[in-house]
Amino acid sequence: MNNNDIWVIAEHKANIITAGALEAIGAGKLISKQLNGGLSVVILGDELSVFSKSLSNTMVDNIYLLENPLLVQYTSDAYISCLIPLIKQHRPSVILIPSTCLGRDLAPKLAAVLKTAYVSDISRIEIDNNNITFTRPVYGGRLLSAVVCRGEKPWVLILRPRAFEKAASGAVATDLHAYGVSKAANIEKYSTNLLSSSIRAIIKGVEQTQKGMGLTEADIIIAGGRGMKDAENFKMLEDLASVLGGVVGASGAAVDAGWMPHSAQVGQTGKVVSPKLYIACGISGAPQHLAGMSTSKCIVAINKDPYAPIFQVADYGIVGDLFEVVPMVIEELKKNG
Ligand SMILES: Cc1cc2nc3c(=O)[nH]c(=O)nc-3n(C[C@H](O)[C@H](O)[C@H](O)COP(=O)(O)OP(=O)(O)OC[C@H]3O[C@@H](n4cnc5c(N)ncnc54)[C@H](O)[C@@H]3O)c2cc1C
Repeated sequence: MNNNDIWVIAEHKANIITAGALEAIGAGKLISKQLNGGLSVVILGDELSVFSKSLSNTMVDNIYLLENPLLVQYTSDAYISCLIPLIKQHRPSVILIPSTCLGRDLAPKLAAVLKTAYVSDISRIEIDNNNITFTRPVYGGRLLSAVVCRGEKPWVLILRPRAFEKAASGAVATDLHAYGVSKAANIEKYSTNLLSSSIRAIIKGVEQTQKGMGLTEADIIIAGGRGMKDAENFKMLEDLASVLGGVVGASGAAVDAGWMPHSAQVGQTGKVVSPKLYIACGISGAPQHLAGMSTSKCIVAINKDPYAPIFQVADYGIVGDLFEVVPMVIEELKKNG
């Protein structure tokens, strides 16, 4: 039993580990190396054998597969009842969870049940003499706050999307080389006992909306705000997104107006994103919006008000009418193939 063990709770879709989970595994590798601890990946669902293969080469020490038909559809009750006995058995020191809808629901509840520390939105982890400091952006990224945890472990941590390098298959060879060893993960399967009566919230159905899909994973996001004036005008942003290979997001005001679904909302009460390119069209840059996008690698703002706060975080600002600028950009991009 190693008190410095790091766990990652890995989400998966259609038998593929999500990008967020691979980032968490990447972060887990960095920490476990420095703390001289093991790295374990926990996957919940049913019939999970496929993951033994896909993860066995990623230099993790353990893969725990928790299987039960009631885990196919996420509920915090089912996940937590299966995780707690495993956590008590292995006593990890840190549990990393990606910042997804599932992760953001599960992590605080898990920490509350464990009565341990919970930190969300972590963008950097520093370790000095076994002391860990977590950095998280606050006030829309205007400040970086340094957080240390105290008390009982495991600490439950949510990682900000794209803040850590993915443990991609391409990195495996380099890792193996660096370690000088080839090692196979220890795989343990648990058929968990779970009573449907212990699950208090029952999911009756899931509707997949087209808009807002994949916002947290997207490399390019074109977001529209109140300046779009109308739901119809978002078609223009969809055109720009399709030329650039991105997805469309929205400000809280655009969602409140009913122009876009809540799944597309970026910000404090929407999604936290960190794409390579974020184009904000007709968005003023309220703190609640900046909280969700200010760590994007490159921010382009199109706004007719030169004093709009969005320009303070933008790498490139275009002062102008978006109804003139966006079609021009689409035309230019199409011309240049
Ligand atoms: C508790 C709480 C949580 C919230 N959570 C969120 C959240 O998660 N995400 C979020 O976004 N907001 C959130 N909000 C709302 C937030 O405070 C702002 O009201 C919202 O972000 C404003 O959206 P906007 O920038 O689209 O609209 P506005 O602030 O009205 O800005 C519209 C901008 O469009 C520009 N514009 C207008 N016409 C044009 C044109 N033709 N061409 C170019 N530019 C034009 C204007 O100059 C203006 O800057 C939250 C608020 C609260 C109180």
